[in-house]
Amino acid sequence: MKHVIGAKCTLCGKTVSAEPETTVCPSCGGILDIEYDYDYIKSVNEKEPLSEIKDRTMWRYMRYLPVQSTGSRPRLRVGGSPLYRADALSRTLGVKELFIKDDGQNPTASLKDRASAMAVVKAEEAGKETIACSSTGNAASSLAGNAAAAGLSTCIFVPARAPKGKVAQLMMFGARVFLVDGSYEDTFRISAEAIDHFGWYNRNAAINPYLMEGKKTVSLEIAEQFGFKDLPDYVAVSVGDGCTIGGVFKGFKDLYETGVIDRIPRIISVQASGCCPINTAAAAGTMEWTPQEENTLADSIAVGVPRNPIKALRAIRDSNGITVNVSDDEILAAMRLLGSTSGVFAEPAGAAATAGIKKAVETGLIEKDARIVSIVTGNGLKDVNNAIRASGEPIHIRPDMDDLLPHFN
Ligand SMILES: *Cc1c(COP(=O)(O)O)cnc(C)c1O
Ligand SMILES: [Zn+2]
Repeated sequence: MKHVIGAKCTLCGKTVSAEPETTVCPSCGGILDIEYDYDYIKSVNEKEPLSEIKDRTMWRYMRYLPVQSTGSRPRLRVGGSPLYRADALSRTLGVKELFIKDDGQNPTASLKDRASAMAVVKAEEAGKETIACSSTGNAASSLAGNAAAAGLSTCIFVPARAPKGKVAQLMMFGARVFLVDGSYEDTFRISAEAIDHFGWYNRNAAINPYLMEGKKTVSLEIAEQFGFKDLPDYVAVSVGDGCTIGGVFKGFKDLYETGVIDRIPRIISVQASGCCPINTAAAAGTMEWTPQEENTLADSIAVGVPRNPIKALRAIRDSNGITVNVSDDEILAAMRLLGSTSGVFAEPAGAAATAGIKKAVETGLIEKDARIVSIVTGNGLKDVNNAIRASGEPIHIRPDMDDLLPHFN
């Protein structure tokens, strides 16, 4: 991999070589970050501009990804999700320009497919046949789907509270699934012990530095969908472990460092008020975070002990970003708003970014003439119970006009 320098520790700064099975820093246990030779990538960009590449999936950005060019490619179509101009929604929210990046349109219906497709490629490079992970739900279902397509087996640990839709996906994709009685923290711990014991390929958030590299393709796409110019002022994303926001920042940073874009959008970090350890630390201007309880219905971001706090906090700091916490009611209202103004069906964590934008505009945190992208990270069909909670029940009638007509008075 000529364009990859190595994996640098976010804690002690040591750089190790980027092998397929590289996980945390061997010296201090810190989370690693893949580093690139930006001059080399620039030379590739000059030889063959991105615009000439036909592949519409995340793999069109191969030159920015830590994979061997000769290696295998996943079989599912990951990435290439639409960016919609949401005029009705922007009028409702009172902002000039709002765009929705609908990543619920990935093969297993969440942004996590970008990371899991990467995990499958790296597991194949490492010659592993089983991949394991613990997850609030979507990392697991995306891993199970992408692994199934590649003929690899999966062993999955999810908290027992995971919504049925996500568990159904796991079962359908033929994963070995363990529902853990406990928090996400407990789930993570038992999976780590099992991975150690059995030697499976590790797709745990943050621990595996390649996952964020897959996730960053969402920003590469957003930038390209804007033609690499007139970029949005803000990009809003919901935050749990912090890998997604770290990836969002890394994508823009890689483009900036290779001279493809001339500035990095400010990142709006959205968490649930009932579980916001990262935003609490960021707002206090510190890298020291404290664990919190997981009190939110947005299961994908109910992460009391975040796995990637440093990259998340740096993404907020280095993008001159802002933080917004939203209540469950605000999340449910945003789900309804997204659906009814834009035809986009988001799961709670997928709508949280939009709830954050609404609140940030109302409280004057962001300017009304801003250009904003809201990333919808997961599809609403994954969590139908909360969708019904957000939208309310339909009207029941007998098949009789006498029963129907009164409802139109
Ligand atoms: C995982 C996930 C997030 C948050 O990503 P982190 O890397 O945990 O911060 C947000 N929304 C959805 C739908 C997710 O699945
Ligand atoms: Zn280290």
